[in-house]
Amino acid sequence: RQRILSGMQPSADSLHLGNYLGALVNWVRLQDQYDAYFFIPDLHAITVPQDPADLRQRTRVTAAQYIAGGVDVDKATLFVQSQVPEHAQLAWVLNCLTGFGEASRMTQFKDKQQRFGADAASVGLFTYPILQVADILLYNPHGVPVGEDQRQHVELSRDLAKRFNSRFGETFIVPEVFVQKEAAKIYDLQNPTAKMSKSAASPAGLINLLDPDKVIAKRIKSAVTDDGTEIRFDREEKPGVSNLLSIYSLISGRSVDTLVKEYEGKMYGHLKVDLAEVVTEHIRPIRERALYLLEDPAELDRLLAVGAAKARETASATLADVYSKVGFLPLG
Ligand code: ATP
Ligand code: MG
Repeated sequence: RQRILSGMQPSADSLHLGNYLGALVNWVRLQDQYDAYFFIPDLHAITVPQDPADLRQRTRVTAAQYIAGGVDVDKATLFVQSQVPEHAQLAWVLNCLTGFGEASRMTQFKDKQQRFGADAASVGLFTYPILQVADILLYNPHGVPVGEDQRQHVELSRDLAKRFNSRFGETFIVPEVFVQKEAAKIYDLQNPTAKMSKSAASPAGLINLLDPDKVIAKRIKSAVTDDGTEIRFDREEKPGVSNLLSIYSLISGRSVDTLVKEYEGKMYGHLKVDLAEVVTEHIRPIRERALYLLEDPAELDRLLAVGAAKARETASATLADVYSKVGFLPLG
């Protein structure tokens, strides 16, 4: 079976609806067709300051949410990045193959540098895309399912794979980018031209998978809507209403066109009340299952250790090949 790999940062107390609809739902579909590797990039998380106790908790919460959202540890390999040391080891080799200018062109770094300021932005944040390339190439995946925001990093992995292969001989599969459909992008409820993001300045525009029903309903009901009263899908003129319609469509499985017809002549308030119901019904069992898993952190850690051991079977073979090809001595 062909292999795929994907991950989401443990950088917040919960995943949000964008992570779920934009990534997790898709992973669950893919794990049946592919040999899937899903991981929690905690090494990436420390590129910005993290409280150690929070990081540990968020790593477990993320794992619990993957499973609660449908990742099946018997089908897919679920692991935590720092428990597979080959990620950091391959990243070093790749750092030495990447041009400074090439790394400087990664737009996510530029954005984050602006957000944090030049001195607060760590060198780790700068080389983050190269660690991401290591994450990918260690497993020689056929493809990497990502959101549009990650496209540039997967493209870097293609460039570095080709560069390594041409310098040291065929080693890596050049991975394909699987960018998901346009509809799978969720926007901030308070600022519907910005994507819903864990690092949003305020939680008011987020729907977190661990939020209680009441909080979710309240956030949806106070979502920013647009001038006028008409319910139609128009990202330019009506970003707020369009975002609500696409969330509705993704969760209910009904097309946006069908929903628009159904809400003809109705008010924004009707749409919001119904959407709040649909979203809370959908998220409740996921939240409950995640909280149940988190009641037994030792069992969760055990599942993750099994996943790390499985991941290392592949990762250590790739790293050994790379180390040998670049000229490192074998362990005697
Ligand atoms: P951060 O703000 O820290 O970057 P994030 O919310 O963007 O956090 P990531 O860990 O960067 O989350 O992304 C995890 C996955 O979720 C990626 O596949 C990404 O494309 C997807 N994703 C994140 N936000 C959204 C969104 N608003 N809509 C759809 N998909 C999203
Ligand atoms: Mg992001």
